[in-house]
Amino acid sequence: MRGTSATLRRSQHHVFHNRRWLRSASTKRKGNALSSQANPPRSGNTPPVTLTAHGLVVDAATTLAAVYARFAIAGAFALADLFASDPGANCYIEPPAPADPSPEAREAVIPPPGAVRIASLAASGIAAAATAAGCDSAVHRVWADRIGATFASEPRLIEALRIGTGWRYLRINPTRTGTGGLITRGEVVSGNYLVLSAGLGDPLVRFVARIEQIPTRDLLATTPGFAAETITATCPRCRRQWTASGGRPVFTPSSHDGIEWGLDSAGDLGLVTNTVACPVEVCPGRVGFTAAGGQA
Ligand SMILES: [Zn+2]
Repeated sequence: MRGTSATLRRSQHHVFHNRRWLRSASTKRKGNALSSQANPPRSGNTPPVTLTAHGLVVDAATTLAAVYARFAIAGAFALADLFASDPGANCYIEPPAPADPSPEAREAVIPPPGAVRIASLAASGIAAAATAAGCDSAVHRVWADRIGATFASEPRLIEALRIGTGWRYLRINPTRTGTGGLITRGEVVSGNYLVLSAGLGDPLVRFVARIEQIPTRDLLATTPGFAAETITATCPRCRRQWTASGGRPVFTPSSHDGIEWGLDSAGDLGLVTNTVACPVEVCPGRVGFTAAGGQA
């Protein structure tokens, strides 16, 4: 799986590069805070739960990395690179050519006749441009978090992009002097892709995975490390356990004689250790949190 991991690394690099640009250049995107984890683990059964002054948070990018790790196959490099284009670049999808044009012919007219400009570097924008260029493609939503209904740090969006006919794209990055541009090309092969995004409003693409088959909602929900609906609280001292779900940090006991408690009433918040004082009065222990991976 060498190719896959190279795709991930490169994709991340570009996304982060892209993101810095977006943050400095666009106020519309300012709500997208940088993920705390620049290099989320590629696998793992439970994503880390972070205790903040505002509540308990499961890092959205880490949960998306778990989906990537489970489903990605090689071959997403070109499409990931297209998604990571600088927002100032002009990207076009070239119409299918009857034969490879000579290098001279390809450089002669930029963009070539019939090329369709990609108006938006979202899955829907790329699918629309590909279709307009005569290449069969379709996009549909596989997963969308309801805002506030999970513990994910940002709402997550997973779209399936089906590319029936592969295509080439042409990208023109304007030069700083304003004359000409740097031209790059990529070839996107036909197949199924997952576009994994997170964020409010206009979510930012974090990973692009080529996949064998589009996973069902249930398969996503049971992917280890993806679930962010439920958090389990455990006190190692008194061995009591509680769960909270639906984004509300109200913990119900797993045993009948236990007590219910809410994070807002928890004592001695340890923002470094990610623990709180055990709500059981006689217990001197501290409660830690895990995301319930693998459970829908
Ligand atoms: Zn305890």
